[in-house]
Amino acid sequence: MSEDSEVTPAAPLNGQTTGPHHHRSHSQHTTTPPSSSSHATQDASASFLRPSDLLRPKAPTASIPPKRSQPERQIDRDERAGLQACRDFLRARKCYDVLPLSFRLIELDVGLTVKESLQIMVQCGIVSAPLWDSSTSTYAGLLTVTDYLNVVRYYNLHADKLKDVDKLILSDLKDVEKVLNVRPPETVSASPEAILYDALRKQLVSRARRIPLVSYDSDTQRTMVTSVITQYRILKFISMNVKETDMLRKPLEMIKLGTYSDIVRCSMDSSVLDVVDIMVTKNISSVPVVTTEGVLLNVFEAVDVIEILKSGDYGNLTWTVGRALSARAPNHPGIYCCSIDDGLDSIFETIRKSRVHRVMIVDDSNYLKGILSLSDILHYLLVDGEEHGHVEGMKTFGA
Ligand code: ATP
Repeated sequence: MSEDSEVTPAAPLNGQTTGPHHHRSHSQHTTTPPSSSSHATQDASASFLRPSDLLRPKAPTASIPPKRSQPERQIDRDERAGLQACRDFLRARKCYDVLPLSFRLIELDVGLTVKESLQIMVQCGIVSAPLWDSSTSTYAGLLTVTDYLNVVRYYNLHADKLKDVDKLILSDLKDVEKVLNVRPPETVSASPEAILYDALRKQLVSRARRIPLVSYDSDTQRTMVTSVITQYRILKFISMNVKETDMLRKPLEMIKLGTYSDIVRCSMDSSVLDVVDIMVTKNISSVPVVTTEGVLLNVFEAVDVIEILKSGDYGNLTWTVGRALSARAPNHPGIYCCSIDDGLDSIFETIRKSRVHRVMIVDDSNYLKGILSLSDILHYLLVDGEEHGHVEGMKTFGA
């Protein structure tokens, strides 16, 4: 199963539709306009969705944290209380609680070809799935978009093998990883009965992006997957149930949340292959597309590769980013943006309404300032400011 199968369809935001250069006092929810490849640079610019702007007046901008001697401000007290409420909530819930009443689980047999798996992904509108090994009747790991990125890189390096591309089966993906000398994707599974907070802490350490809920059947001595919970699903669960997320009003700049330095960017003319390479090397799932001046035009996402590969034509990888973005489905939700003055309260409000996978942090002129990923938000909720909160191996955020 994937995040897509579990999530309640997002309600459109109430904002006014504007282009990327319009006034930033209204959020919006529009689809990326269909475009022709001859005008890829212009046409593949996305619609911009700003979580904060329609929701409430801006949180006061205060870029200097209070000195220790100063009395604690209300905004600090509220932030602490909001974080505590989120953590208490996660400590009181089991992984199973995140699942909706009704959901589907799509598992793929490791004997399927990669081509077949791509068709299933596209038909079912999913971007990852647990694997099932029917020879042992056991859970065999998660298939994610990273596996497809590896396939792309593999055939780029070994073009002579392309003639056999249709024979590549999912269980061969381990060999592809070996040839490419990449580490297998980090995985962490949890029992559906595990405390959600504990499972999330484990996930943050491992840098896995989703948690398969795996149960062990002592009668058959076999493992089976109940579902897979994604970062978005967890954040949406919090946003729907913890009203104190409203108290998280401290601006991103103040809490140093997001990545602001060494941002990997590309242009509309970059090749998809180069962007795929850097996504794998840097272990990131999106690359903002900017003008030479640094104005945000769009975002190339790892999942865009699925659309490019679904025809089975691996020759399409020579496409430019602009061309690939023009080929996106017309119902692509667009790009979510916010400002460095926004607080998590407004971002949670957007998560409640829409399926957000990341937020681009831009200034009033749409210059890219930073990136806020879902793992950044989870890290802040679970770890930052917490006593004994250091998680081994985690990066620190900020400029
Ligand atoms: P996913 O989006 O796959 O669910 P995630 O939430 O961890 O995973 P990533 O894109 O993998 O998102 O981000 C991992 C880390 O890298 C985050 O700290 C994020 O701020 C940072 N990051 C994301 N994209 C870029 C980029 N293009 N350049 C630099 N850093 C980035």
